[in-house]
Amino acid sequence: MLNRLKSLLAPRNKTANSSKPNKQIIPHSKHGISEKRISRAALKTMRGLQDAGYEAYLVGGGVRDLLLDGQPKDFDVATDATPEQVRKVFRNARIIGRRFQIVHVRFGREIIEVTTFRGNHEDTVNRDNSQQQKGHTKARALSSDKGILLRDNVYGDLESDAIRRDFTINALYYDCSTQEIIDFTGGISDLNNRRLSIIGDPKARYREDPVRMLRAVRFASKLGFQMEQATEANIHVHSDYLAEIPAARLFEEVLKLFMSGSAVSCLHMLQEFSLLEHLFPGLSICLKKDKPFDLKFVDSATGNTDKRVRQGKSVTPAFIYASFLWPPLQAAMRQILHDKKTSLNEAFYQSAQGVVSQQLSVTSIPKRFLIPMREIWQLQYRLDKRTGKRAEATLENPRFRAAYDFLLLREQAGEDTGGLGNWWTRYQHASVEDREQMVKDLGPDKKPRRRRKRKPAKKPGTEQTDIKPTSSDGSSNGNNDVH
Ligand code: ATP
Ligand code: MG
Repeated sequence: MLNRLKSLLAPRNKTANSSKPNKQIIPHSKHGISEKRISRAALKTMRGLQDAGYEAYLVGGGVRDLLLDGQPKDFDVATDATPEQVRKVFRNARIIGRRFQIVHVRFGREIIEVTTFRGNHEDTVNRDNSQQQKGHTKARALSSDKGILLRDNVYGDLESDAIRRDFTINALYYDCSTQEIIDFTGGISDLNNRRLSIIGDPKARYREDPVRMLRAVRFASKLGFQMEQATEANIHVHSDYLAEIPAARLFEEVLKLFMSGSAVSCLHMLQEFSLLEHLFPGLSICLKKDKPFDLKFVDSATGNTDKRVRQGKSVTPAFIYASFLWPPLQAAMRQILHDKKTSLNEAFYQSAQGVVSQQLSVTSIPKRFLIPMREIWQLQYRLDKRTGKRAEATLENPRFRAAYDFLLLREQAGEDTGGLGNWWTRYQHASVEDREQMVKDLGPDKKPRRRRKRKPAKKPGTEQTDIKPTSSDGSSNGNNDVH
């Protein structure tokens, strides 16, 4: 499809940064997008709006991925109807968001996101001023004292909407009534050249929304596109803008970066652009130390995640966070054990607390992921304890599968676990008799169990485990050696 479009486009100057957009219309005969590839829900939404007298276009990833012959993840619609007007057209519509109001139109399980054309920001109010000037607190566009756009509900027309979008390839509009594509910013040319260009002045666009730097990394990785020179250069210089983004929004972006099938490339690019330290500060410090185990471990973790996405298997943020926080957890444990005489268990709990609270100050981690993440860590230490009934109990733990996968990653990264992964692989598939034999073959418990006074019950999530940290070269050492 892109080859067909190439013939249409003579090389021309990039218009993305010029103040007056240069409109191009690409007819169906040139782009050839079949309507069958567009979701019925998106078509119904656009037709509903057009029948009510409004403009409506498919925009964003929907058009981009159709042109690249990929299957869009979702379909977004842009319109000149205000959110209130959109809501009146559809029974099944709901206005959401405050910072950036949009409408969700629901068709069964599918949701179409409808956005009203955004306009220019000459009247953006600075938050500090707005607090002083009564009456301005309800401004449609509001920026922080640092210039970050806190609210953007200024409406405009199709052209102004195009230049408010992030990248030229995301600012292509498909009109289902004419089957034409409208391009104001040189998006088609960039698609042809596999180039990612931010629209407008990169510094200003990253300033008003630093998350665009993460989006740049995500799209360049996912599509295998080269960043345009200024788009790229400005990320290097302004990566610290990210420090001002709320933890909850960064968590959402982390999921998109690492759960869409290009985690390996995203991680490398985030490191290259000094963005990783704003998402995973602990991990970033560990990777800068160039320890072979840490480097291999996160590479195996991201590679494994990408493979699962390709195979259509589930991936959970709990596993990703458990992997990315494992190197700092191990480093913290080694440090604590080196500095003071304390039990391994105590070192684990102190380290986990420290690592998690540092991470929470950057990206949030909802409890439903935080708890399984800790369980994956704790099980790493229980997997080694297999005598008596322990192996069977561990196998029945609902988190066993994730913990076992995690163990295999540690081994893949070069950690010597004494063949633990292989043992568990065999154990899972063995008959009851063979399992008993496998446990017997391990020999007797090294330490005979002594009857101890019962201790008061621990709070959930603080169970004790026999823990030994992984040394920085990957060898597990049970003799308290600290590397
Ligand atoms: P995908 O859904 O495949 O991840 P997408 O490009 O559709 O990619 P969305 O997050 O769904 O991304 O956003 C839809 C569109 O909204 C984008 O294509 C872009 O035009 C616009 N957009 C999203 N986020 C921003 C942003 N931070 N700044 C400017 N425009 C944005
Ligand atoms: Mg989308």
